[in-house]
Amino acid sequence: MEVGLRLGRLRASLDDAGCGALLVTSTTNIGYLTGFTGSAGLLLIDADRAVLVTDGRYRDQAPREIAGTGTEVEVEIAVAGRQQLLKGLTAGITNLGLEANSITWTDQRRFIEWFDGTSLVATDGLVETLREVKDKGELARIGAAAAIADAALAEIWPMLDTGPTERQVASALDNAMRNLGASDRAFETIVAAGPNSAHPHARPGDRTIARGDLVVCDLGAIVDGYHSDMTRSARIGGPGDGPEAEMLTAVLAAQQAGIATVADGVATAAVDAVCRSVLTEAGLGDAFTHGTGHGVGLDIHEAPALSGTSTATLRSGQVVTVEPGAYIAGVGGVRWEDTVVVESGGCRRLTMSPSAT
Ligand code: ZN
Ligand code: ZN
Repeated sequence: MEVGLRLGRLRASLDDAGCGALLVTSTTNIGYLTGFTGSAGLLLIDADRAVLVTDGRYRDQAPREIAGTGTEVEVEIAVAGRQQLLKGLTAGITNLGLEANSITWTDQRRFIEWFDGTSLVATDGLVETLREVKDKGELARIGAAAAIADAALAEIWPMLDTGPTERQVASALDNAMRNLGASDRAFETIVAAGPNSAHPHARPGDRTIARGDLVVCDLGAIVDGYHSDMTRSARIGGPGDGPEAEMLTAVLAAQQAGIATVADGVATAAVDAVCRSVLTEAGLGDAFTHGTGHGVGLDIHEAPALSGTSTATLRSGQVVTVEPGAYIAGVGGVRWEDTVVVESGGCRRLTMSPSAT
């Protein structure tokens, strides 16, 4: 991964954000910029220096992890002396940027006290914007996480025909992903059958999965901090006919049309509109109750959003999901989701499980 280039890119955005330095408080963003994976720390970045202030638990780990990335970050160990240390480091700074999305009201009040005399500037997504476009090392990690979810689903899929509960299938998928090398699951695995599948974020319960049920499996793995995200749907015993069969066909067509639209330079809202129009034509417009997709990376949900209200434009190297769905109370639901890399002229799927199950 090109961790060493990231601080320079961030520095280049500070002027436009109206600050001479940025205090990074999101531990995910600190990890992205420095390679440090500890759960506590503050990272101060100005035009010349980057200083990570953390506590004694990370005395060995922080310098070791940072050295492994080739970034120029100094490490200071301090707890009680943090305020004095940071006050000193920001002495010449008129405007200090804070990450508005990662600090609490309590943090803000504390920082006003700490940095008395310095004007605090709310910044919005400076590091998150850099994180949207993935480098080769990041793509390899998301690809590995996607391959683990593919393999886990292939291994566990036959179990659906044996009358298990939703919870049994979900925990079998979680175990399979860990056995295949995931550090963890990317989120609480969803296995929802029958009427439960009509809830997009259903939690797996004790319902026995039966013939004729629609079933939605939404799973992802984590590799080296990077997530994958994939959903497959099916009807136990075969698609049959009726509204369940219509939903399976229409949502898959919507997802394929959405994926065919994804490319560098395309508006995120356009991908959403394509999926929505296919489902509307099938009479399922009102049954598609969520946005079409989201960015995936160090967070399971990150920028850009692919929704009707999103104003972003897709760029090469972004990793996004395309996941239209249709949900009818009392009948069930269907969702197809893949994680793809945006490229010029199209996109490349990272989740490769068969689309027709
Ligand atoms: Zn998902
Ligand atoms: Zn998703």
